[in-house]
Amino acid sequence: SGGISMKLTVLGCLGAYPYEGQGTSSYLLQADGFNLLLDAGSSTLVELEKELDPLDLDAVILSHYHHDHIADLGVLQYYWQLYPTQTPKPILPIYGHTEDEFHFNDLTMDGVTEGRAYFEAEELKLGPFLVTFMKTIHPVPCYAMRFVEEKTGAVFVFTGDSGYLESFADFAKEADLFLADTYLFEGNEHHHAHFTSKEAGELAKSANVKKLVLTHLPQFGDLEQLKNEAQKAAGKGIDVELAAVDKVFDI
Ligand code: ZN
Repeated sequence: SGGISMKLTVLGCLGAYPYEGQGTSSYLLQADGFNLLLDAGSSTLVELEKELDPLDLDAVILSHYHHDHIADLGVLQYYWQLYPTQTPKPILPIYGHTEDEFHFNDLTMDGVTEGRAYFEAEELKLGPFLVTFMKTIHPVPCYAMRFVEEKTGAVFVFTGDSGYLESFADFAKEADLFLADTYLFEGNEHHHAHFTSKEAGELAKSANVKKLVLTHLPQFGDLEQLKNEAQKAAGKGIDVELAAVDKVFDI
């Protein structure tokens, strides 16, 4: 990658439910003036409003339709529908998979937002990004995403939610930043829905990523321990950090 190009701001990074003032999975990914909301967990909108006018979003993309990733989607649609503004607003595109018809149909609100499909086999051109997808191990269909900024070649990979899946070693290959669902402490490996700290670290190492950021964090337990377990598995050459609300990563 050539210098700082993408910017990732954490809006929410807990798994499952908000707790002690912190919301669930949601990130703002920005590059070249393009503002992309990545998942829309609870507290997204109040955190997003601190970063930009939500009407300045160019698109939303969703890994899956579990509540902790879409809790604020409906109120984001109301914001776009009702916020008083002089000029007519464009329709906000919301990208999601089509394997859950009920939730996919909900992405469209006539005249306000439009659901758009992504597919595992198709590269998606989205603003400054080329995005590819990989289905994860999860109780409902969920997709990991690999974002390549066309102009710079910078690579950002988001696991979505996933249990251990060896193919992340290829999917996340040489990523500048690997944002990994790490809901579980070491000792719970091969879970049906989430990585453990050890697995996140091992996959980061296999993929030879530059930086591993742990997210979808648990409400309980010592997060420094979670980080240390991941760092031990990743090895010394990889920078490991915990996600936190308002934290910004330059990619
Ligand atoms: Zn989930």
